[in-house]
Amino acid sequence: MAEEIEGCTHDCSTCGADCASRQGGIQKEKLRDGSSVRRVIGIVSGKGGVGKSIVTSMMAVEMQRRAHRAAILDADVTGPSIPKSFGLKPGVDAMGDILLPAKTKTGIQVMSVNLLLESEDQPVVWRGPVLAGAVKQFWTDVYWDDVDYMFVDMPPGTGDVPLTVFQSLPVDGILIVTTPQDLVSMIVKKAVNMANLMNVPVIGMIENMSYVLCPDCGKKIPVFGESRAEEVAADYGVKLLARIPLDTRLSPLCDKGIIELMENDYLSAAADEVEKIFS
Ligand code: ADP
Repeated sequence: MAEEIEGCTHDCSTCGADCASRQGGIQKEKLRDGSSVRRVIGIVSGKGGVGKSIVTSMMAVEMQRRAHRAAILDADVTGPSIPKSFGLKPGVDAMGDILLPAKTKTGIQVMSVNLLLESEDQPVVWRGPVLAGAVKQFWTDVYWDDVDYMFVDMPPGTGDVPLTVFQSLPVDGILIVTTPQDLVSMIVKKAVNMANLMNVPVIGMIENMSYVLCPDCGKKIPVFGESRAEEVAADYGVKLLARIPLDTRLSPLCDKGIIELMENDYLSAAADEVEKIFS
């Protein structure tokens, strides 16, 4: 295994050295000359449909609003809904053999397999290694323009595929998305183990679909059962950074491609934590 180098800032995006700091000595893919990504944050979940993509989108929107330059690398080819939430249509520009990320209305840089397909409804039937290869190329063959925070929408689960994807990118931390009906304890345990394997911190946990707010009395109704998020977070020493309600305004924003117009502060504590850890 390579040695840690003297004067290491642990900022792998500006340094190509093959060193122990690169998460357990695993060689990461390099960015193209001129491309720059300061921090890479993976968003993971135990299974699909828990809101991992919407959390990824909202984190990027929140950070962009805070005057950071945000980007999304959509590695969830099983349900690549990110471009749609931002109203981005298939088709990307290229500069020679380098792809240019799509830009959302507020300037968030996005790369997704859906942008490369001829139509949005084409199925993607790739197996793990092909998928991991595509994600690597989203890192190496895309011109990422001066990105402060890149959010990676990971394939669901904490198995082989997300692990391979993670190992090819210099991930700086992960956010875990769960819901009350998940097997929360097991999912958090697996995600924490995955983060330990990669030698990266778990930034925190985000519980989605936590409750519905009664429009009449304002009471929080736990439609999917009582949350165990706080207890599980404490068990594993992970911060619970958000409890997002089931909010009927969110899906229409995604369906209309205008998630950037969201009016909520559900992820402000998560964004604060990211700023605190990485600034
Ligand atoms: P995943 O990426 O985990 O597969 P998505 O982010 O695609 O999940 O969310 C699945 C569906 O649930 C989407 O239609 C999304 O708009 C909706 N959704 C997610 N979270 C919420 C929420 N808190 N309130 C309302 N709808 C939500």
